[in-house]
Amino acid sequence: MEILHNPSLKSFNTFGIDVKAPYLVRVNSLVDLQKAYDLPELRDLNKMALGGGSNLLFTQDFAGAIIKMDFPGIEVLDETESHVIVKAGAGVVWHQFVLYCIEKGWAGIENMSLIPGNVGAAPMQNIGAYGVEINSVFESLEAWLPELGSTKTFSKKECQFGYRMSIFKTELKNKAYITSVTFKLSKSPKINTTYGAIENELNVMGIKNPGIKDVSNAVIRIRQSKLPDPKEIGNAGSFFKNPVISKSQFEAIHTKFPEMPSYRISKNEVKVPAGWLIEQAGFKGKTYDNKYGVHKNQALVLVNYGGGTGQEIYDLSTKIIDAVLTTYNIELEREVNIL
Ligand SMILES: Cc1cc2nc3c(=O)[nH]c(=O)nc-3n(C[C@H](O)[C@H](O)[C@H](O)COP(=O)(O)OP(=O)(O)OC[C@H]3O[C@@H](n4cnc5c(N)ncnc54)[C@H](O)[C@@H]3O)c2cc1C
Repeated sequence: MEILHNPSLKSFNTFGIDVKAPYLVRVNSLVDLQKAYDLPELRDLNKMALGGGSNLLFTQDFAGAIIKMDFPGIEVLDETESHVIVKAGAGVVWHQFVLYCIEKGWAGIENMSLIPGNVGAAPMQNIGAYGVEINSVFESLEAWLPELGSTKTFSKKECQFGYRMSIFKTELKNKAYITSVTFKLSKSPKINTTYGAIENELNVMGIKNPGIKDVSNAVIRIRQSKLPDPKEIGNAGSFFKNPVISKSQFEAIHTKFPEMPSYRISKNEVKVPAGWLIEQAGFKGKTYDNKYGVHKNQALVLVNYGGGTGQEIYDLSTKIIDAVLTTYNIELEREVNIL
């Protein structure tokens, strides 16, 4: 266990927000985690789990102890001719895990290449990209629940996965420390290239019969061309979820705005691209005080060019929500965790 006293959190969040916390404790085992909780100086403080800091916005100093979940390790629990059951520690970097599995020939997560952050946070919002979400390969997870003082194994059903959602963002928010996640991956890949620009990118790469490594490479190329790299421009990926509205609400709005794009997701529900709504509301590419703003290529991504505060970025997100609500009567929901 390593305890940092009053550190700046700038390098611990991909927005690069320069706030502080009285304590940041790095833990890499259950014993460490329990010990951290029992430390007299931390006992009565607020605490929060931290992974790679790529899905949160600090609007102020954190008044408590940040528990940095550094649990390492990748372990095969079971293997058959067709599948492998593999468990990864919460602190394993997600993309490193994806590359490790691809190297082994285990399929199912290649479409989620290059999503920032760590394995432990992946179930939090049921991460997803290019037509695949982790719930499709999820087997179970282990979490430590401070209120119970013990660990619990969560099945897929118990995680209550939804679109960028799980029980860890609702009922169990701040009440569960995910220590490891177990996945069921396939040894006979079903290549999924129908979503987005993957097929097109594979053509550009001159690949006719792609394997999982090719799909991963295509996804990496697309993501690198579309999304700002947090190492260069502070951001947390999509700031808002794509709103899901009822068919009747959609029809009412569509009469006024026939050009509005949409995807039918069920008999009665329609998903509308938040990026389009934000762009129409005039925010795409806007910069404020030369410090922060909305990315020029990707209206869903709010950015910190350096020196922007979390509160300023949060206020901008409120302005966007209000503008979209006034024009389209659709309420955007933030995907990023606000602190
Ligand atoms: C450029 C960019 C692109 C992105 N693209 C995508 C994308 O395509 N799809 C997608 O789904 N997301 C995307 N994201 C968002 C982000 O990468 C994911 O949400 C990722 O899973 C966050 O992981 P993290 O370790 O950084 O979590 P953090 O930001 O550290 O934490 C996020 C939340 O999870 C909690 N938490 C973290 N670790 C644990 C744990 N072990 N136990 C309990 N709670 C925990 C934190 O308290 C916080 O509430 C993107 C982000 C960026 C910057």
